[in-house]
Amino acid sequence: MNLVIGIDLGTTNSAAAFLGPDGAQIIPNALGDRLTPSVVGVDESGTVLVGAAARELQVLRPERCAGLFKRYMGTDRKLTVAGRTFIPEELSGLVLRSLKADAEAFFGHPVSRAVITVPAYFNDRQRKATIAAGKIAGWTVERILNEPTAAAIAYGFHEAGADKKLLVFDLGGGTFDVSVVELFEGTLEVKASSGESALGGEDFTRAVAARVLLGLGESFEQVEARSPKRVSRLVQQCERAKCALSRDVVAAVRVPAPDGEFKPGTPQVTVTREQLEAWVSPTLARIELPIRRVLGDARLTRDQIDEVILVGGATRMPLVVNRVAALLGKEPRCRLNPDEVVALGAAVQAGLVGRAAAVEDLVVTDVAPFTLGVEISKDLGAEVRDGYFDPVIDRNTTIPVSRVKRYSTLVPNQRMIRVKVYQGESRRADENLSLGEFEVRGIPPGPANQPVDIRFTYDLNGVLEIEATVVATGKSVTHVIAKHAQGMTESEIRAAVAAMAKLKTHPRDEEANRFVLLRAERVFEELPSELRDVLGRLLDGFEAALAGQDPAVIARHREALERFLAAYDADGADPNGGDE
Ligand code: AMP
Repeated sequence: MNLVIGIDLGTTNSAAAFLGPDGAQIIPNALGDRLTPSVVGVDESGTVLVGAAARELQVLRPERCAGLFKRYMGTDRKLTVAGRTFIPEELSGLVLRSLKADAEAFFGHPVSRAVITVPAYFNDRQRKATIAAGKIAGWTVERILNEPTAAAIAYGFHEAGADKKLLVFDLGGGTFDVSVVELFEGTLEVKASSGESALGGEDFTRAVAARVLLGLGESFEQVEARSPKRVSRLVQQCERAKCALSRDVVAAVRVPAPDGEFKPGTPQVTVTREQLEAWVSPTLARIELPIRRVLGDARLTRDQIDEVILVGGATRMPLVVNRVAALLGKEPRCRLNPDEVVALGAAVQAGLVGRAAAVEDLVVTDVAPFTLGVEISKDLGAEVRDGYFDPVIDRNTTIPVSRVKRYSTLVPNQRMIRVKVYQGESRRADENLSLGEFEVRGIPPGPANQPVDIRFTYDLNGVLEIEATVVATGKSVTHVIAKHAQGMTESEIRAAVAAMAKLKTHPRDEEANRFVLLRAERVFEELPSELRDVLGRLLDGFEAALAGQDPAVIARHREALERFLAAYDADGADPNGGDE
């Protein structure tokens, strides 16, 4: 089967797309939505929810849900959901599994091959973790693709024949990437990438929440420790206000009471766009260094950039657009939907992998975003000092790449060397990210300076393989960083797949009912008492219909509920509108 799906596995939202005869196309989910929130929940019955339903549950029962887990991919962090422990790979795996079910429902047959995007600035461990998540979900991961590269592909594909240099500025919920890409004669060449793996719109939301609480004499950290429900509700209010402030100049935030409930006297704080901008400005300043670095690495001045492209939900903020325009001296563009462009580009790349006719003449090259190297000791004359980082592959080298460098033993009769592999830009090894280490034995006895060749091979997925060869014997040791203790082994992945198979999920055709029910319950708790009666009756009717199991009756009651909820979001009963 040549069909390969492109997946944007986002911090906040995820999307799947494919390359059809009319170009790249988003695959809708079970609710008919084009984006699936990257949120996982477990409801009272122990059933797993993914997407919009989980996001609704998260507001009321934060302890039953997890979001933003992309931030912890490739770390040892575990997340507790309804008393059950998950690793980030499993949670991402559940999102990917849900996208797989959506694609299968859309095509009416199984699909298994995928191209999954990651932030360009994801390190080796984070990439491995993403591949593991894909496997847990039952995907064959054909390629890991950098998000800004995917966005550039989407633009490049839509503007075939264009020769220009693009700067892709990608600020999502939790990550920031910036890449310089050159398009010429059907070739798309990434010149350089830079970024930060923990900077995004969620930081802005938290900054708003912290300031709102500060204004009431409270500290965010203390409230977070005392009442997760209060924080999750406040964060939801602040996110809405933040998004509304991309359009309006003032928005209101309702602050839940200490027990997390909205009470009749609930304080309502007004936030202006000016305040928001002042609060997030110090965080946003962190985009400047990566932009300078990416231009420097691409050996271009800002005037040589023909176009600046915006990707990611947080680029909807006028402050972000203005700051980018000021830094780069030109108005950025976002002709393609910034929430969908990464998935669309991934679909084009997926078409390349699956050899779709439409993309036969598109060639894409990418770069290694970090310097990769080993720890060495230096003979400084009076002393030998260790702990230095010695690059083997320089950052922004075009991939795939294979480089070899010769090292030698330090002392006579040294029979073994320990190769410690790092990723990063610091001169000191321990200030970079350790990727793993291994031993090379069998060095024949003799004087110091016995040569050992170390070859680094970095593949198209950004995955590193290292080979060390003792020159005197020709014997070599290969070390794939995938086997590093921090990554999941194949047997761990198999165990995770088995554990996933045991989780209960709602049948696909019930997902919409589940979502409406949870949304109605969330709104019910937010409503002033005089409106609760109406919604309460609609909810009772819907629950009775669900118990009766007659599809026509269920649909009728659901529509009535949906009408109420739509009106609630639209008519100002919700002071912040429904711009999520
Ligand atoms: P992404 O990861 O690209 O889906 O981006 C999600 C982030 O974009 C979240 O932090 C959202 O709050 C933020 N976002 C989405 N829409 C808007 C908007 N209209 N104004 C400001 N931020 C937004």
